[in-house]
Amino acid sequence: MEILTEKKQKTMLDNVIEQFNKTADSMNLNPNIRKILSITNNEIIIHFPVKMDDGSIEIFTGYRVQHNNALGPYKGGLRYHPTVDVDDAKALAMWMTWKTSLAGLPYGGAKGGIQIDPRNYSLGELERITRRFTFALGENIGPEYDIPAPDVNTNEQTMAWIADTFMSTKSPSERSNNKHVVTGKPVGSGGLEGRDRATGFGVYITLRLLFEGRKETLKGKKFIVQGFGNVGYWASKFLSEDGAILIAVQDAHATLINENGISVPNLYEHSKPRKGSVKGFEGAAEMEPEDFFGLECDFIIPAALGNQITEKNAEKIKSKVIAEGANGPTNNEGERILLANGVTIIPDILCNSGGVIGSYFEWLQNRNGELWPLDEVMVKIEKKLTEVFKKVESLVNEDQIDHRTAAYILAIKRIETAYIQRGIFP
Ligand code: GLU
Repeated sequence: MEILTEKKQKTMLDNVIEQFNKTADSMNLNPNIRKILSITNNEIIIHFPVKMDDGSIEIFTGYRVQHNNALGPYKGGLRYHPTVDVDDAKALAMWMTWKTSLAGLPYGGAKGGIQIDPRNYSLGELERITRRFTFALGENIGPEYDIPAPDVNTNEQTMAWIADTFMSTKSPSERSNNKHVVTGKPVGSGGLEGRDRATGFGVYITLRLLFEGRKETLKGKKFIVQGFGNVGYWASKFLSEDGAILIAVQDAHATLINENGISVPNLYEHSKPRKGSVKGFEGAAEMEPEDFFGLECDFIIPAALGNQITEKNAEKIKSKVIAEGANGPTNNEGERILLANGVTIIPDILCNSGGVIGSYFEWLQNRNGELWPLDEVMVKIEKKLTEVFKKVESLVNEDQIDHRTAAYILAIKRIETAYIQRGIFP
């Protein structure tokens, strides 16, 4: 099935560059800073060998693209997916720079990963692949330099392996103060309580705030979700607990519908042992994948890969709200159609920023040797996200612009200010 593939990597990069240029024009960005932000600082491509379970050696290709670090260390996830390549990583790294800047965090932007389908490897193989990649990255990552985190098909286990490998290469006295080289670790290994749900929680909070602004609540609102991984699941859970109704879900293997509502806990119990796939769930019926985005509903959450809502399907969309849980799910052509049709898009760099905000808290906690309880973490994430959301909404209303343009202006302005204050070396 073609639905969840992200083949047009070039388009994703074109997409983010075009979004950037459009914003740079509209805010009259300093031309020199425009030049700096148009390129990625470092593009690291590593080929490395790993021994498989059967004794054979396989060569893997890993990437880390560091876009910009004007505001602080590079920050962003690592994904394991067959489509990962340098252009894909460049686009995603740029989105991270805007995301961390918009959230007011002391970070820049990076992204990377390994070009594999992790389902084809055993746990032991994945561990060796991850550790060898970390070793090969060496000093290109570090707690004050570049801090990876989970992304598509990576999780707290992946982060624990990276942290352990990275720390093992340090001298004994340095080992324990390097665990914040990655965020999204298991709670028992320096992870943050609540980091697992932070992205989905953020998606929920931004939707709640959007509807609150319209004097509406989530109660009884119908929604559909593409992708039932970490983001799709947690967003659906928080939303349904607040009275919204999940009526359809799509992943790479199946598209399911139940107009009366899909039970999020039951769907999760079904999908968990199937590596996150919803296929075969009895509480909903299968439907044509092509008809998914056109379903009648109050909001859509694309929470899988990029380039899912395009000029090919945007016209069919009846929902008036899209909350971008994924990075880059809507391309520019698709967006133009949606905006002309009066659809509000909560852009990825705002909508899914709960994850990196949680990462920041984990990093701070590690750096300061603190341990925060779950309720405190959730309050902090909500507070931070609410501040950012309100800033974006004010600019939307003041300038009568769409949410993405407003979010981009705020994000890029902060970086522009830093460069102007500091100047360019030498
Ligand atoms: N991969 C997530 C994102 O795209 C989280 C990044 C992070 O926490 O550094 O925002």
